[in-house]
Order: sequence, then C-alpha cells, then structure tokens
Amino acid sequence: MSKTGKVERLELYRDRDTQLLLAKFLNGEIKELEPVYNPKQGYSYPKVEAIVGDSSHAEAFLNKLHETRILERRIYDKILYCPKCSSASISVRHCCPHCKALDIKKSCLIEHVKCGYMDVEENFRKGSRLVCPKCHEELTRIDVDHRKAGVWCTCKECSKSFDVPIASYFCRDCRGNFDFEEIMIKNIYAYSLREEAKNEATSGWVLIAPIRELLKNEGFDVESPAFLKGKSGANHMFDVVARKGRGTQKVTVIDLATSSEGIISEQPVIALFAKIFDVSPDDAYLIAMPKITENGKKMAQLYKIQIIEAKNERDATKTLKEKMLYGKE
Ligand SMILES: [Zn+2]
Ligand SMILES: [Zn+2]
Ligand SMILES: [Zn+2]
Repeated sequence: MSKTGKVERLELYRDRDTQLLLAKFLNGEIKELEPVYNPKQGYSYPKVEAIVGDSSHAEAFLNKLHETRILERRIYDKILYCPKCSSASISVRHCCPHCKALDIKKSCLIEHVKCGYMDVEENFRKGSRLVCPKCHEELTRIDVDHRKAGVWCTCKECSKSFDVPIASYFCRDCRGNFDFEEIMIKNIYAYSLREEAKNEATSGWVLIAPIRELLKNEGFDVESPAFLKGKSGANHMFDVVARKGRGTQKVTVIDLATSSEGIISEQPVIALFAKIFDVSPDDAYLIAMPKITENGKKMAQLYKIQIIEAKNERDATKTLKEKMLYGKE
C-alpha cells in the first residue's frame, strides 16, 4: 500500500461526507452498498446521494473512495447505453445474421431417439401430442424417447435458418440502432469497506461527523477540530467544541478516545484535564470507545469530566444526546 495513499485516506477521514458514509458501514447500517435500479435513471446510490447532494457527485465520491483504497468494489451489473444520446433505455434485439431483420422465429429442435429424426417442434406437434413425422410414433417421455437438441431460428424476411442470432441494440429514446462494436458498456459496482480502512477509520474521525450533525441539529455552533485559547495563552485542540446561547455562550468540549485493545487507560482523562484546567469550559466530555478503566472513571469524576462509554458511533451519539440535552446521568 503506497504511502501517499495513506495520507490521502487520512485526509478523507476528516471529510464530513466520508465520515457520514463510513459511519453507516461501521454501525452495520450498510454491509455492502448496492446500486438501486430505476428504469428512467438507471442505477444510483440513494444513500450516498443523501450525503453528497446529487447523483453526479455520488459517482465521483465513490470513485475517490475506491481509488484511495477505502472501499473495495465488485461488478454488480453492466449497463448498456446509447453512443448517440447516452440513454440507458436500450433493448437488446436478436436478429437474423444474414439480413439483420428483427422478425425471426425461434423454435426448439427435437430429436426422436429411436429413428434419429430431427426437426423443429412444430413439425412434431399434433394438437397436444408430439408425433414423429418420419415414423409416426408418439413421443411421450422427454430424455427417454426424445430429446431437445437446441434451438433453430428462421428469418421471416429472408427465410434463411440459423442457430445463433446476432445481437443488435436499439435505443428507445433516440431510436438509433447499434451493433456490439458501437454500444457503450459501463460497469456498475457494489462497494464495501476494506478491512484495513475499517481499522484506520475507527481510530476516531468517523465518529466526529455524526456528533457534529447531532449538535448542529440541536442548535449548537459546532467546530471540529477546534482550538481554544487558555488562560496561559496556549492554544488547545479539542475534537469537538459546541457553543450555545446568546451573549455569554455555554461552551462544551468533547474529546474522543478509542482503543483497539478494548480498554482505555486514564491517559486521555489526564490529557483532557490539562486542557480544561487552562481553558475552563462549562462542560467537558470524554467519549471512550469501547470502555475505560475504573481508575480512569474515578479520575474523570474528580476532574468533573463526563465519561461516555460506547461500543459504536450509534451508542455514543445516543448517550451524548441524553447527557448533554436532557441532563440524564
Ligand atoms: Zn434474414
Ligand atoms: Zn421417428
Ligand atoms: Zn439514443
């Protein structure tokens, strides 16, 4: 994996759109992102459009996430579209290979096993029965006394017969006719989150976007990441700073601590305390994913830092909402 790729990915993890989409993968809402078909617009990704705004951006956005190896993809379908008007409303027509007429008749070839006679099904048909035109024996059991021996087509224009028709492509919008060489084919993909990206993304940034959205919807001014100047004159960075109210605003700072080992030490509590001691916000939260040591909890209580333990992004936003907005303990 290239180093530049990693730098690009880390940049993308800070992007709001990327965070919102990856959060859906990480919380299980999306396992694999499949395109949705609509006969008028062709394929689209409504869940992505809801994030980025419209369909033309959705494709470029997914391409970028694929190129930077955040998402992997598999071919889900291929779509045919018109080389003249770009419409995806294309019908595939099976035509006569001799005169290219559309009016061909497809028949089934039947072989009478006993006498070896082979002909199209119509010539065997006697009402609801099948009777061999050569030896006049009735055929009753498929694969025993007779078998299907393939297809046979006849052109109603030039009367020639053939077994494999040729395909031609008709645009229902501009009514153009195209052959295989001319028709445009586009791959349509289904996307999933790469395992490596899952690990990189869970290291924090993906969680920030849903928190930011939640607080914005609740009327907070939100900055993320945010720098606040302390009494000492030093600038301190917080993952999220939310402000509310007119005049003297109430300031809430939120930091995030994640651990792949499963438990977080008291270290982020100490780091956050050092910053809030200097900055003096009204409230301070530490989101610990998935949980924090007992010692960390005790220290947080002493320092008046509220701890939110959460298994995933959904848990974290839910608990944060309850604590911050409704004062639940
Ligand atoms: Zn023909
Ligand atoms: Zn026969
Ligand atoms: Zn067309």
